[in-house]
Amino acid sequence: MNNEALNRLRWRRSICSSVGLLRLKAHPIQMSACDKVLLAFDFDHTIIEVNSDYHVRKLAPGGVIPHEIVALHSDEGWTKCMAEIFRYLHENSVKPKDILDCMSEVEFTSGMVELFENLNMEKVDIIIISDANSVFIDHILETNGRKNLFHSVFTNPAFFDENGRLSLEGYHVQDHCTLSTKNLCKGQILEDFITARRLDGIKYSLVGYIGDGMNDFCPGLKLSEVDLFFPRQGFSLVKYIQKMETEQGLKVRAELCLWNTGLDILEKIKEKRPDVIKS
Ligand SMILES: [Mg+2]
Ligand SMILES: [Zn+2]
Repeated sequence: MNNEALNRLRWRRSICSSVGLLRLKAHPIQMSACDKVLLAFDFDHTIIEVNSDYHVRKLAPGGVIPHEIVALHSDEGWTKCMAEIFRYLHENSVKPKDILDCMSEVEFTSGMVELFENLNMEKVDIIIISDANSVFIDHILETNGRKNLFHSVFTNPAFFDENGRLSLEGYHVQDHCTLSTKNLCKGQILEDFITARRLDGIKYSLVGYIGDGMNDFCPGLKLSEVDLFFPRQGFSLVKYIQKMETEQGLKVRAELCLWNTGLDILEKIKEKRPDVIKS
């Protein structure tokens, strides 16, 4: 192995204190692979009951976003649409505090806290992969006192600019995955994370992916036969899984585990891997 390759191995990717950003940190090689469980979560309608991108719209005058801004969603994608919504809110005197207070109201989905509290975090890594944004996720996790639980958060980076407008960018620009939007291929993020952790000496013997929407299909497709894919009951992902198999022959290999609350996820993990549940 040449020096350059060795040096690459000696660098460990770890999450920055602010979500959505990765930095490199020197870390010694661990020689033996350590087995853990990885649970990757979507955020809206998964960790939280509401969709934060919809919840913020109540701050618009009369709670209504003009049609021409909403219409950007189909033409320009979700991130562009949300950036324009934040511009509109700013033009209508919505302040950063108003937005943060609005996010403070958001509660975790039923049973999620119990799920997190019952996992032995020495044996489980939990991450978030979301098309929301870093300001919303950061604030909601902090308000609920759960920010430090997550190993990493992958989402669209956002910040309040000097005028107090919430500014938003895509997580990345991708064109190789037609199942995902240009700004966010959750499947690629999941695979990249697992690869980076393997270089850290961490091997995941079980991966669970928990989500509700159609953009959660791509990461679900990356899972293997030994993994668990949790589509939320009554949400669009359930039908989409069937549709993609019937119409495009894209079959999920992982075991499908429908869930409604965090307790359903906890029960399944308990059944498959009692060793990662706190005694
Ligand atoms: Mg969702
Ligand atoms: Zn994708």
